[in-house]
Amino acid sequence: VDADPPLHKLNQAVKDGVKSPKKGEAVVYWMRMCDMRISDNTALSMASEKAKSDKVPLVVVFLFSPQDYIAHDRGARRIDFVIRNLNSLKDALSKLNIPLHTITHDVRKTLPQAIISLLTDLSSTSLYANIEYEVDEMRRDMKVCALAKEKGIKATFVHDKCVIEPGLILNKEKKAYAVYSPYQRNWLATLHDKQDEYLHERPYPEANDAKVKDNKKFSALFDSEIPKGITGFELDAEDAKTMEKVWPAGEDIASQMLDRFLHTKSRSSQMGAVSPLAEGAEKSDKASRLLKYGQERDNANRDTTSRLSPYLAAGVISARACIRATLTMQKSKKVDGGKETGIGRWVQEVAWRDFYANILVSFPRVSMGRPYIEKYAAVVWENHQEEGAGGGGYSDDDPDPVGQGTDGEMLKRWKDGTTGVPIVDAGMRCIKEMGWLHNRFRMIVAMFLTKDLMMDWRVGERYFMQNLIDGDLASNNGGWQWSASTGVDPAPYFRIFNPYIQSKKADPSGEFIRRFVPELSKLRGDEIHDPPASVADKLGYPQPIVKHHEVKDRALRRFKNPGEK
Ligand code: FAD
Repeated sequence: VDADPPLHKLNQAVKDGVKSPKKGEAVVYWMRMCDMRISDNTALSMASEKAKSDKVPLVVVFLFSPQDYIAHDRGARRIDFVIRNLNSLKDALSKLNIPLHTITHDVRKTLPQAIISLLTDLSSTSLYANIEYEVDEMRRDMKVCALAKEKGIKATFVHDKCVIEPGLILNKEKKAYAVYSPYQRNWLATLHDKQDEYLHERPYPEANDAKVKDNKKFSALFDSEIPKGITGFELDAEDAKTMEKVWPAGEDIASQMLDRFLHTKSRSSQMGAVSPLAEGAEKSDKASRLLKYGQERDNANRDTTSRLSPYLAAGVISARACIRATLTMQKSKKVDGGKETGIGRWVQEVAWRDFYANILVSFPRVSMGRPYIEKYAAVVWENHQEEGAGGGGYSDDDPDPVGQGTDGEMLKRWKDGTTGVPIVDAGMRCIKEMGWLHNRFRMIVAMFLTKDLMMDWRVGERYFMQNLIDGDLASNNGGWQWSASTGVDPAPYFRIFNPYIQSKKADPSGEFIRRFVPELSKLRGDEIHDPPASVADKLGYPQPIVKHHEVKDRALRRFKNPGEK
């Protein structure tokens, strides 16, 4: 599959499309779940330009595709976030007299026909969209190009998600980098070379003529209702309330969050802070979290990072806007991507996002259940399903290795945060409650699943996608394969995190554990990280499901000799 990365094919299909279509009666911008904003949006901006030159209205379309959400392990929280952002976008677009039309299309395979028939109904000959880099999505868009060509429609798919488009940063052999550091150096040099081109803000779309609202063809589109929910992705009322409070929707919110990260020590509670954790910080003097990011970001118990990932994953803010904002904080006009400053370190994190998108595009097999390091396909994993549902370990040729069976006891306890290892439990309960987790804690819980419990990284990858509000295939897959030592530039298999040592480093005072594991809230000092058995018993907290020093050797053995038990 890697020999035939679909991005080249999609680019070719766009090129091979209709060259100069006849002027239609509308231009359509197809919004996806990764570009949910009006400002600084490449395809929307191009569509607006085209509509202006053709003197026709611009229409925005969003297609819900539940079968795709199932196939990609999309969770109810992520779909709810899409719906909430659409509601905010509808208002903003309406002020520009631009209709936002939503369609729910149940059959995944016929989605290309659905979008083309909408264009035909609107007598539109121009379609614009930003590229989604997932393999299935690119294949779908190739079909759209082919169908569009038959109908005389020009379909244009453009890069937008990353600061520098995937497929562009190559090593001396003209191949994709599989190691981050040289990729990042090249990324920064390339960015410096053409900084204005990569970072310039895409023009805001122009308003449609107000008369479009009276035109029969378009007025119905203004009335199109955004669904309240999608069947199969219902969020329970309590969870919906939390998500709305902690992760409010909309472009303005995302900009405010960026601004607060740049200029203050924490998100305010009006912003629906992931707080309790941030409460202490809120009282202290104003200071920039960005400037201190280098020293403080690994203090995972506090509000030290931007928490912009849900907004970046859904494209509510552009990665370009994030990097541009760093320029206003520094004296030099060149983007700082070095290790010496907080700004530089943060820019490097945004570059990780580009790096993993680049990996997805260059080595598509990683997102199709394959490890990047092929020899680790043979690593024997413990069965994660109930006894009798498959036996111990399974073959890598299994088309759905994660399986749909009932979770076994170990997996269930990992998901529920009842492993008896406080830092792991706090992390997993934070995901359950907030739909988000600091990067360091993600690494700890992922390492625990794959090395201490010796369970397949794909099981964890799926659970994260289903429960995180920032679920993003490229970054999630990258993070999981890093933790499982199977990916590009991974944690070497012999460097297994000791969760108790990690706990002391990332949550030295234990406040994160106390917040999410209330059974342990009275413990102080080192006990919170590894409560003695008698203390844990008294508090009704479980004993560890595995002993780290005993199971560590199992992981070392199985990675050293893939295939052996
Ligand atoms: P900041 O530290 O403020 O960083 C700014 C932005 O840079 C982030 O919002 C994010 O877009 C990007 N970024 C930062 N670190 C990484 C990284 N390691 N990889 C890729 N991008 C990064 N991130 C997701 O957006 N979606 C996921 O589904 C996801 N799954 C993960 C799974 C695992 C097992 C691991 C270890 C990491 C995963 N990450 C994922 C990466 C990272 O944990 C989150 O992006 C980060 O915690 C978000 O917090 P923040 O916005 O405060 O980040």
